[in-house]
Amino acid sequence: MSKTRIQAIRGMNDVLPEESPAWHFLEAQFHAVVKRFGYREIRFPVLEQTQLFKRSIGEVTDIVEKEMYSFDDRNGDNLSLRPEGTAGCVRAADQHGLLYNQQQRLWYQGPMFRHERPQKGRYRQFHQFGVEAFGMPGPDIDAELIQISATLWQALGLAESVSLELNNIGSAGDRNAYGQALTAFLEAHASELDDDARRRMHSNPMRVLDSKNEAVQSVLADAPALADFVSQESCEHFEALLQLLQSLGIEYSINPKLVRGLDYYNNCVFEWTTDQLGAQSAVCGGGRYDGLVAQLGGRPTVAAGFAMGVERLVLMLETLERVPESYRRPVDVYVLTASEGLSSQALRLAEAIRAQCPGRGIVCHCGGGKYSSQVKRAFAAGASLAVVLEAAGDNAPLSVKIRQLAGSDDVWTGELSTIPAEVARLLGA
Ligand code: AMP
Repeated sequence: MSKTRIQAIRGMNDVLPEESPAWHFLEAQFHAVVKRFGYREIRFPVLEQTQLFKRSIGEVTDIVEKEMYSFDDRNGDNLSLRPEGTAGCVRAADQHGLLYNQQQRLWYQGPMFRHERPQKGRYRQFHQFGVEAFGMPGPDIDAELIQISATLWQALGLAESVSLELNNIGSAGDRNAYGQALTAFLEAHASELDDDARRRMHSNPMRVLDSKNEAVQSVLADAPALADFVSQESCEHFEALLQLLQSLGIEYSINPKLVRGLDYYNNCVFEWTTDQLGAQSAVCGGGRYDGLVAQLGGRPTVAAGFAMGVERLVLMLETLERVPESYRRPVDVYVLTASEGLSSQALRLAEAIRAQCPGRGIVCHCGGGKYSSQVKRAFAAGASLAVVLEAAGDNAPLSVKIRQLAGSDDVWTGELSTIPAEVARLLGA
């Protein structure tokens, strides 16, 4: 049998213990913010029928055409690992009767899968936090969603490092009319386009706008503009949203090129970007998707939502050193023994200290070894205090010392029963 080490799949990362404090800080802030806005969590599977994503994200999108992990299972059903959360959230909420004639404020988190080219900030398994609101047609809910993200940036200390872009992409009808005009324009210039653009000009002409080919982009310079096809109603919705954002003191800029890579959006779309991450600048994107529930077979229900990329936010928190020290220190106290045969006393003392110091990390040394190597482990664990148990001779009470490891090397000596309270006092617990 081959003994070569098996490696992780390219683009699918392990999160190592030293990275987890940033994840925990981000998760804690996200959970606190969505709770403050009255959102409830929904969980749904990472595997769904492939059809769900084709019908929601769109057949002619990069995600569905090139990036999904799809396979036939043992029953011959074609399944895909979810490339994003909105489709599964809508499927689950509709299947369980949460949507029709109701208002729902939901959030989710978890891994998503896209077969993209891995690079910094872009992975094949990545994580998203998402928020979805159903049954509210007005721009007020759009403003609330943006307000939630802005509140999170504040809580994370990232508010100065992100900026908000918005665009109005019109209703489904507006986009249809625009699509037809764009197709007619592209047909007239077919000979100047590449194969990709020629293929897409009939199936999904708006995707041609994303072409990376300079020749195609120069043809597009004279193409009809989406803004000219957006209805009065959509414009009023968008204007009202802008006013709400102004009243909330949330700064934004309008980016007419912002269309987003998923077909289900309508009216306002938005994206938060940063200049801290190089090429992968988008940290959060969303918008309205009023037609999606009906498109997936549910009764018509308006909706809006956003998703943010956890890895990219973690990178920002690390780069900008925003993770509080309290998240970085998993061990506060290390209990060790200077004499043999004291395991049971040490385990019980550690437990008594845990009871006195809730929320603190108390490690009881296991595995024996010399006193000096135990002390080394206490330092390596990052503990600020070492509690040392030592037998004082036959029938004499145990001697217990508390040694300060960080800052000074002060020592306190006490009786077993007084130690937990003394440790709590020293930790300020
Ligand atoms: P989307 O679902 O494409 O609207 O993406 C929402 C957010 O997820 C983006 O703003 C990114 O922060 C993040 N994201 C999307 N794709 C990836 C990826 N391949 N790797 C890491 N983060 C991603």
